[in-house]
Amino acid sequence: MATKYYLPEDNSPLPPKSAEVLTTCCDYCIVACGYKVYRWPVGTPDGGMKAAENAFDIDFPSGPLQAWVAPTQHNVVMHKGRPHNVVVIPDKDSKVVNINGDSSIRGGTIAQKCYNPDKPTNDRLMSPMIRINGTLQPVSWDMALDVATDLMKYTVKQYGANAYGMKIYSYQYVENTYAGSKFARRSMKTANWTMHDTPANVTSTPGFRDAGFDNFGPACKDWGDAEVLMICGTDPYETKTMIFNQFIKPAIDGGQKTIWLNVRETAGIAYAKNRGNALFIQLDPGTDTPVLGAIARVIMENGWEDSEWIKQTVGQQ
Ligand code: SF4
Repeated sequence: MATKYYLPEDNSPLPPKSAEVLTTCCDYCIVACGYKVYRWPVGTPDGGMKAAENAFDIDFPSGPLQAWVAPTQHNVVMHKGRPHNVVVIPDKDSKVVNINGDSSIRGGTIAQKCYNPDKPTNDRLMSPMIRINGTLQPVSWDMALDVATDLMKYTVKQYGANAYGMKIYSYQYVENTYAGSKFARRSMKTANWTMHDTPANVTSTPGFRDAGFDNFGPACKDWGDAEVLMICGTDPYETKTMIFNQFIKPAIDGGQKTIWLNVRETAGIAYAKNRGNALFIQLDPGTDTPVLGAIARVIMENGWEDSEWIKQTVGQQ
C-alpha cells in the first residue's frame, strides 16, 4: 500500500521586476485585508537578491518588517494556458485594515488556496458529481443541470415553492449574491433561502441583533476607539485577527475595558484578562440574548441609560 507523504518546501522564488502586480483582498473573513499578487510565467527569470533585481526594490535578506516570501505564499497556477508563478503577500501599502501589510495565518497563506494539481488542492472537484447507483461520479455540466432542473420542477409541483430550499455563500461579489438571491426569490418564489452561515434569511448574529445592535455598523477604528468594548459570542483574535491585532489589542494595552460573553475562554479573552481590564462572562451556547436582555433591564431599572443620546439618535425612549 502506498503511503502518502509530505515534503515541506523550504524556499520560494522572488518576483522579478517584470512581474504583473494585481491588488486583491483576503476572502477568509469580513475584515478583507489588502493583498498583492505578483505573477510571472514559469520558465522566465525569477527575481534576484539585489534591489535592482526584484519587484520589491529591496536587498535580501530583508529586514524584520520588510517584504519577504514564505514558501506558503508561492504557488504555480495556469494563466492564459501557461503555468505562472504567483506570490500572494499582504499589501505593505495598505493604510487601513491590515496596516503596513500585517496578516493572520489564514490570509498569510492564501496562495495555497489556488488550484495546483501538484499540491493539496488536487482534491478539488473539477466537475459536478451525481450519486449514481450509490457512488458519486463526475458528470457533465449539461447532465447535472438537466437533472437539477427536473428535480426542482418536480419538487415545486409536488410540494410547493417553499419545498425548494437554497443556500448560497455571501462573501465575494454583490453581483453573484444578487444573481443567486434573485433566482431563488423571484424565479423559484421560495422563502426557503439564505446565505452564509445562517439557518434562515437573518443576520449572522441574531442574538446580538435582537438586542438592538447593528454589529456590522462600526468601522475598524471604532473597535479601538471605544472606551468599553463588549464582545459577544466570538473572539476577534481568532475570527477577525487584524481587527484585534491592529485596533483592539493596542486599545486593551492602553486601558480599554472589555466585556466578553463567550462559551469558552479563548486566546483573545485570556490576553485581555491578563492585561487586567477584562470581564469574562462564560455562558451556555444560545443564552446570550437572555443575558443581554437582563443586562439591559438592570441598566433601565437603575436609570443608567443615556436618555439624551437615545433621544437624539433613536428618536424615542
Ligand atoms: S484578518 Fe486574516 S482572515 Fe481576515 S481578511 Fe485579514 S488576513 Fe484574511
